Amino acid sequence: MPAIGIDLGTTYSCVGVWQQGKVEIIANDQGNRTTPSYVAFTDTERLIGDAAKNQVAMNPSNTVFDAKRLIGRRFDDPKIQADMKHWPFRVVEEGGKPKIAVEFRGETKRFNPEEISSMVLTKMKETAEAYLGQSVKDAVITVPAYFNDSQRQATKDAGAIAGINVLRIINEPTAAALAYGLDKNLKGERNVLIFDLGGGTFDVSILSIDEGSLFEVKATAGDTHLGGEDFDSRLVEHFAAEFERKYKKNMRMNPRALRRLRTAAERAKRTLSSSTEASIEIDALFDGIDFYTKVSRARFEELCADLFRGTLAPVEKALADAKMDKRAIHDIVLVGGSTRIPKIQSLLQNFFCGKQLNLSINPDEAVAYGAAVQAAILSGDGNASSSLQDVLLVDVAPLSLGIETAGGVMTNIIERNARIPCKQTQTFTTYADNQPGVSIQVFEGERAMTKDNNLLGRFELSGIAPAPRGVPKIEVTFDLDANGILHVTAKDTASGRSSDVRITNDKGRLSREEIDRMLAEAERYKEQDHEQRERVAARNQLESYLFKVKQALQEHGAKLPQEDRDKVSGLCEETLRWLDNNTLAEKDEYQHKLEALQKQCSAVMAKLHQNSAGPAGPQDCGAQFRQAGGRNSGPTVEEVD
Ligand code: AMP
Repeated sequence: MPAIGIDLGTTYSCVGVWQQGKVEIIANDQGNRTTPSYVAFTDTERLIGDAAKNQVAMNPSNTVFDAKRLIGRRFDDPKIQADMKHWPFRVVEEGGKPKIAVEFRGETKRFNPEEISSMVLTKMKETAEAYLGQSVKDAVITVPAYFNDSQRQATKDAGAIAGINVLRIINEPTAAALAYGLDKNLKGERNVLIFDLGGGTFDVSILSIDEGSLFEVKATAGDTHLGGEDFDSRLVEHFAAEFERKYKKNMRMNPRALRRLRTAAERAKRTLSSSTEASIEIDALFDGIDFYTKVSRARFEELCADLFRGTLAPVEKALADAKMDKRAIHDIVLVGGSTRIPKIQSLLQNFFCGKQLNLSINPDEAVAYGAAVQAAILSGDGNASSSLQDVLLVDVAPLSLGIETAGGVMTNIIERNARIPCKQTQTFTTYADNQPGVSIQVFEGERAMTKDNNLLGRFELSGIAPAPRGVPKIEVTFDLDANGILHVTAKDTASGRSSDVRITNDKGRLSREEIDRMLAEAERYKEQDHEQRERVAARNQLESYLFKVKQALQEHGAKLPQEDRDKVSGLCEETLRWLDNNTLAEKDEYQHKLEALQKQCSAVMAKLHQNSAGPAGPQDCGAQFRQAGGRNSGPTVEEVD
């Protein structure tokens, strides 16, 4: 059974698989090689990917995206509080965690971010399964280098809910570097800078690649809130201002107009990567006014100048962290759709004194590409491991990890940029005589005082034998596994007794029971999706037969006695009315209607010398279903990207 690599992106996701000696990036059922990380809920169904994104204008409050910005964070996280202001869907607090509240099948439902991500992962898994013609279980999933322990854990949980066996969580830049290492036959050690600018996130990483086989992340930096969508926003504001100037009307409070403008702006932005001018044409944008205008590449660059220039600061920070001069960088690799913007490329190239940028890997697919390679290696694909023998991934801890010691001081146990997996033990002691227990608080961050760092968890170690202060020895072990997930244990050696302790679940991680429950629910949703598809297919079969009869009547009806003609025509009208009044009927009802109609019309159809083969065959039904799906859920054509 093949293992797949999934790039679970903030805005788009991508899936690849190692096959016959190379990576295949898999297109989804719409023929797209990347899939929007969107899930939508309607009165009747759940939509994932393109279908969800395409209906966002019609159903904004129940169309969920950006789950990656929520995953593994607490509700009161300032980032979430800031992001919430911009999301059209509702985020509510439950037990300290953020939950997404939507209307689904007439009910208010709350979903964990992990569940939404699991739905996207399921879609990616199914995309791979459809292509491979067999079921898939194992996957490597990528996360941004900045993800902390809790975000990595939550991503792993999302995989579990999707029924995926997560072979490993790897950093996105590491995956891209792995893809890159495949392309080149490296000799000696090379330092590579990965510049990853996607739809909503920006990551810079410096890796050193030794003989093409050892990948070590030297440093990471970035901005979790910078990407193509910010450039889109600048264009949207530019166009809204232009509209106001021209027509004296402010459309900024109209969400529908703004969304249509945003879709057009994004398209214009893409055009500007290859042309120096782009036009937008939106009929009846606001108050019935058609908006036709143009924007030049120079103007776009001016609108985004600060954002574009700002991408260089994390590059400098990463170089400083890696203690490297920019001249020490051998290769610069571009990842993420936004690196197609010429100005970004030239800024980066100038920064590196005119050095050639590496564009050999499709920037949208490089991460999934590397994840697929890693999946093949981890699952022991003979073919992959022989071509990629000894390829080893070495990641680093993105932040220092430590515990609080007397006076609120951060005492590091694992240093920032330490290679992982790694395990470190340090011995601590008590600060009072006969102290029966200690409280161990685990933090991540670079600040000297724990109050300025991020609390990961805390636990108590009790039962320490009475002793003067400073005598007991408490060994604290930090075990950071290959996924970047931390396990902390403390042991009292002085009393001769050891007790195993784990970080309490106070970071909002899902418990095993919760994951199991969500897994069962995910199965149920899958069944519902299936039922819904069958229902729509049955409705289409009935419609399709009905139109066939109507068409036959129209073309050859003159051959029939008036009485037969009236009877069939009446039946058709009646069934059509029934269809209009029963848009949500069950599959059985549609089938039943179809059988009845076929029975009543078959004699007449035979008389018409029509091929009364009945309803369309299975292939037709498939095509009809897609079309119907689009029609039921899709907005007007100009809004669809
Ligand atoms: P990713 O998350 O890497 O798939 O990046 C998606 C982002 O890249 C979106 O914001 C897209 O608008 C942007 N993008 C894709 N193609 C282009 C292009 N040709 N020029 C500019 N931006 C692009």
